[in-house]
Amino acid sequence: MAEPHLQHLPSYMDAAHPGPWAIYLEQVDRVTPYLGPLARWVETLKRPKRILIVDVPVELDNGSVAHFEGYRVQHNTSRGPGKGGVRFHQDVTLSEVMALSAWMSVKSAAVNLPFGGAKGGIRIDPHQYSMAELERITRRYTSEIGDIIGPNKDIPAPDVNTNAQVMAWMMDTYSMNAGSTTTGVVTGKPVSLGGSLGRVAATGRGVFVVACEAARESDIDIKGARVAIQGFGNVGGTAAQLFHEAGAKVVAVYDHTGIVYNARGLNVPVLLDYVHQHGGVVGVPDSETLQPDEFWSLETDILIPAALEGQITHDNADLIRTRILVEGANGPTTPEADDIISAKGTVIVPDVVANAGGVTVSYFEWVQDFSSFFWTEQEINHRLEAMMRSAYASMSKVAREHAVSLRTAAFIVACSRILEARQVRGLYP
Ligand code: NAD
Repeated sequence: MAEPHLQHLPSYMDAAHPGPWAIYLEQVDRVTPYLGPLARWVETLKRPKRILIVDVPVELDNGSVAHFEGYRVQHNTSRGPGKGGVRFHQDVTLSEVMALSAWMSVKSAAVNLPFGGAKGGIRIDPHQYSMAELERITRRYTSEIGDIIGPNKDIPAPDVNTNAQVMAWMMDTYSMNAGSTTTGVVTGKPVSLGGSLGRVAATGRGVFVVACEAARESDIDIKGARVAIQGFGNVGGTAAQLFHEAGAKVVAVYDHTGIVYNARGLNVPVLLDYVHQHGGVVGVPDSETLQPDEFWSLETDILIPAALEGQITHDNADLIRTRILVEGANGPTTPEADDIISAKGTVIVPDVVANAGGVTVSYFEWVQDFSSFFWTEQEINHRLEAMMRSAYASMSKVAREHAVSLRTAAFIVACSRILEARQVRGLYP
């Protein structure tokens, strides 16, 4: 029998409708035994601090009026303001936004940023609307969530189907309502509007840095290491370039057009140019093509899924023969696949640390906006690399202490930091 105060579960904890939020809850349950006396506060992590559902009415170009459902969820703000993207997608659900907001709390804390976690979304297929309609939708949504966002409260950023332009509209709307220009209310802005240098390459750079740390621990020399990458966009393309510059052999790249392979290593700068011109990797000179199963079976030192979620499942996990798997994408490995791959001795660097370079430079953007003093790209990259290395070291130390995976260790580090803040702050009133 549950304790009396736990019998009245909020509706989103309804076991009949699990979804991504249920996956997150299971992850919290898994680390609870490692939290020591802080476990007393663990219920904090299982309930978002604040959920806002808003109606977004907008006049369309044809004169009709449409209504969209928008969300902003602030999962936790114990360590600082909420931080997390805004997603425009027709399949966005509250459960998804809640889970994404919670994973942002974990990611921010795992990298030791002074942020909590938040996420937002609108249930809309943005490809069906004109730029002018999207601007009106973005502005009305921003106005509706305006009371709970702000540079000291909650700082949105781009996510699926949103970009620097959407952030510029959000910043302008918030500033108009506030009566003063407030650049720090969002990150991922254009550089001309207080955005940060180095933001575009930040996630891929972070992936490269933690992959080097993991390689060092496994006695793998990056020079000459065999690397395969799924996804050759912002994250995968940047990481590939950095591996190439460091003397690694990027032997295979897999994008939405197919897979290219060269056992001696692909010429990454040529491949980047080719993708720029042709829209995909297939057809680049000096390469052969592979089928997906052949890609996953490649014997490599480092494998980086940096495309979509759910790419490595029980169907292909058995094929994987890599020493280190670095999760550039969010959630590329299902829990079942994780067990299969880990059992072979492969080190998995989890997404919450591996792809945290983006939110780390978002943090730098927010800091620069507050001080209205902007850093050089070299300074940003230097600080980013130091923070990523430090996050990797904290996670790796806890993994050794408790003999757990890096993923469990990252959650232990993050949840402990969040609950430590909860404990020392105490409960109000
Ligand atoms: P992107 O759109 O720039 O690139 C996506 C790449 O994936 C492209 O090369 C595309 O061809 C490839 N791709 C798409 N569908 C595919 C398919 N079915 N099979 C194989 N390849 C496919 O995206 P991105 O910004 O590089 O993000 C990649 C992943 O990293 C996403 O999961 C994203 O959530 C995650 N992520 C990105 C950032 C960031 O700062 N950009 C931060 C954290 C996490």
